[in-house]
Amino acid sequence: MPETRVVQGRMVTAESLAELVEGESVMEAEAIEDADRTCPDCGGDVLEVGYMPSVTEFVTGWKCQDCDWKGTDRD
Ligand SMILES: [Zn+2]
Repeated sequence: MPETRVVQGRMVTAESLAELVEGESVMEAEAIEDADRTCPDCGGDVLEVGYMPSVTEFVTGWKCQDCDWKGTDRD
């Protein structure tokens, strides 16, 4: 069973969390971690996930557990 976490009341896996951040499907995602930061919009807890949107790219993504805020190290 993949590890699941709760984001905005929905269960997510590393892959579905990465897809939430990216806005489309991803090739591969690493394990979900607790980010060492809080949400700039609501102050909530932020999850971190590393993923590969394509073969040649690795992105670190962040998603607030409580609101719509998300970001990546590309931003
Ligand atoms: Zn938030």
